[in-house]
Amino acid sequence: MRYKSLGATGLKVSRLGFGALQFTRIPEREAIKLVKTAYDAGINFFDTAHNYFNSEEILGKAIKGIRDKLIIASKSTSTEKKKFLDELNQTLTKLNTDYIDIFMFHDASNLERFTKLMQNGIIEALIKEKIKGKIGHIGFSCHNPEVIDKFYGIDEFEVIMLPINFVSKEFTEEKVYQKLVDNNIGILGMKPLGGGRLNNAELCLKYVKRYKEVIPVIGMEKLEELKQNIAYMEDNSGLKEKDWEEIKKIRQKLGEKFCRDCGYCLPCPQGINIPKVNFIKVYYDQFPLEDFIDDEREKEARKVDNCIECGECEEKCPYNLNIIDMLKENRDFYLEKAGRE
Ligand code: SF4
Ligand code: SF4
Repeated sequence: MRYKSLGATGLKVSRLGFGALQFTRIPEREAIKLVKTAYDAGINFFDTAHNYFNSEEILGKAIKGIRDKLIIASKSTSTEKKKFLDELNQTLTKLNTDYIDIFMFHDASNLERFTKLMQNGIIEALIKEKIKGKIGHIGFSCHNPEVIDKFYGIDEFEVIMLPINFVSKEFTEEKVYQKLVDNNIGILGMKPLGGGRLNNAELCLKYVKRYKEVIPVIGMEKLEELKQNIAYMEDNSGLKEKDWEEIKKIRQKLGEKFCRDCGYCLPCPQGINIPKVNFIKVYYDQFPLEDFIDDEREKEARKVDNCIECGECEEKCPYNLNIIDMLKENRDFYLEKAGRE
């Protein structure tokens, strides 16, 4: 396993990071085994969050005895100072540790949330926690390139977590990536596999590896996936012409309709699970056909009939997607493929 410095933090992080969200989908003993295997293979970076269900508790159990060898990141979504600090303390308790290496503002992706973070004294409070030694470094997770520029005004800004994949190229092939590098900010790449929407892990990781300062953080739930992703990250071969052709094809296919699954359009007043419905066509293309027809998926697709076209979701989507049209297309697609009226 190779390691690299994470921006100016002084942390030496494994070239592959482990995302612990998936721990909520597998038995606890399997999650613990995955962490131990990852650690034995040299992975020393694990990412979780206060709102990843019981991920922090499971990770806390898994890292018993090796905590001081690891770099752990977690996050809080709260924009209220007291709640934010409560969540920090809960994170430490659940992880069974007295410090967290990186603590991030989760989803600092729109200006309204960013303004609240600034006005509610959270940064100042976190700096105090940092001085006390509870937090090593302060960071943000963000899905919106327009908000990222605001972080540079905060002296304590050291780490960012943002989507890095060949479809969300607004973060890599625009000036966002280079500015972060020039400012020596540690970059954690979330959704390197498009949040499950891109199924060629080798191609995805070849793309991410072009951005040498990025530590991709992948949610993994099987030992096989873990071994394969490590092998892809260790492999030195870059993107060949045929890979670029494949990327071009996928980009064209997903076009301007690539829902990043960030959830910023939620909640919908009509209770429509927008990212889930937007995932229908992608699921059909990329996952086994026998799993496609599913009661839960059908229920979500049919809820699109309740859309009142209020436009709230489109206003909130950082990618300016035509959500109302996309929802209808995905609903119709499901009903057609499932042979429903
Ligand atoms: S436009 Fe439809 S899907 Fe979007 S928030 Fe309004 S009701 Fe929900
Ligand atoms: S529709 Fe937009 S805001 Fe909603 S999940 Fe997809 S990309 Fe995110």
